[in-house]
Amino acid sequence: MEIRVPADAEQIIDKLNEHGFEAYVVGGCVRDSLLGKEPEDWDITTSAKPEEVKAIFSRTIDTGIQHGTVTVMLNRQGYEVTTYRVDGEYEDGRHPKSVDFTTSLLEDLKRRDFTINAMAYNGREGLVDAFGGMEDLENRVIRCVGSAVNRFTEDALRILRAVRFSAQLDFRIEDETYEAISLIAPNLEKVSKERIATELTKLLLSGHPEKMKRVSDTGASRYISEPFFKAAMLSKGELRPLGCLPAVKYMRWAGFLRREQGETAADILRDLKMDCDTMDRVKILVSRWRTPIAAEKPAIRRVMNQIPGDLFDSLLCFQEVFAGEVGEGYGETLKTVKALAEEIRRAGDPVNLKELAVDGRDLMAAGMKPGPALGKTLNALMEQVLERPECNERAYLLRAAGLENGIKES
Ligand code: ATP
Ligand code: MG
Repeated sequence: MEIRVPADAEQIIDKLNEHGFEAYVVGGCVRDSLLGKEPEDWDITTSAKPEEVKAIFSRTIDTGIQHGTVTVMLNRQGYEVTTYRVDGEYEDGRHPKSVDFTTSLLEDLKRRDFTINAMAYNGREGLVDAFGGMEDLENRVIRCVGSAVNRFTEDALRILRAVRFSAQLDFRIEDETYEAISLIAPNLEKVSKERIATELTKLLLSGHPEKMKRVSDTGASRYISEPFFKAAMLSKGELRPLGCLPAVKYMRWAGFLRREQGETAADILRDLKMDCDTMDRVKILVSRWRTPIAAEKPAIRRVMNQIPGDLFDSLLCFQEVFAGEVGEGYGETLKTVKALAEEIRRAGDPVNLKELAVDGRDLMAAGMKPGPALGKTLNALMEQVLERPECNERAYLLRAAGLENGIKES
């Protein structure tokens, strides 16, 4: 079994070896290589202690020194080098009480979550596969290392990781592992929302977002949050089309939450400590997608006016995927909408206040007092221009605002 380790990672391993330490690439990169996929990053596990790693390499960063991780910088690229470790007892189903270093590679592999993630490799010794990871890769199964109940009890996040990997790899979850998930699911209440959100996002961005269904089927969704549980129930039978959406965070989350009210969708994401940008975008898509856009330029310009530029395209894309749910024949309407939107952009029709031929200062120069009326007037003028873009002319708009006599040229 040959794995093509990049030259930099190999150099790090060689250098550690020269100093008398063991070192291997480990975890996700071994799994992905064996699957014929290009790994995202190459993690290295070593018998060297963090201080020893730091002494060997000239450029290092203390990324997670308390967990034994040092990032070694080589050719502007970072490699996480982690000392062999055993996790101490898990106090609270979240954090190991302590992290102890060990000199045994096997001990380090044993603490890892799934057999397919618990393999190590280096050029000298080849593949180290102590838990049948290779066989599970071949049979396409997710299986815990050791007792599934114990592993999920130690860290309940592994429950969502199991589902996430099953979605990314399109693997089945082995029976004992699956049963343990259902059994230990209540412990998810103890896991931080940020960690949960990361796994759910990876699941949604995977090739099989419809496997979000497993989060409900296993009973896990109930322990994420009550509104999440309800949302997952509501969308359970309608997850298939999610895979047709681009693998973009806010698109997939909006697809999953599309049956909710915009505000509820935002609340669910806020509870998961999601970033504001994602929350805002999901809220807009979820509140708008059900409303058909009329195949007329003024209507289209109005929608363009109401939401940020790039989100307009996302909205059309979203509606395209769920056209059948928007309404009968909407797919056809949407084609016209797209063509007209294209024309609007080509023509450069003004669709927001910045593009209006007059601004607040113009109105004041023409004699208007600052205040709420000024904003109202601008909006009314914008409305006119959305209807008829040819009206976007300074003199005309000032006249339309009833200010034709007060123009003071500056
Ligand atoms: P990817 O980075 O593609 O999502 P990965 O397998 O690299 O997948 P990471 O979260 O980066 O996943 O973790 C790296 C490795 O650390 C895993 O392969 C696994 O061996 C181990 N690991 C990560 N999280 C846990 C956990 N919660 N419990 C046990 N082992 C874990
Ligand atoms: Mg990784």
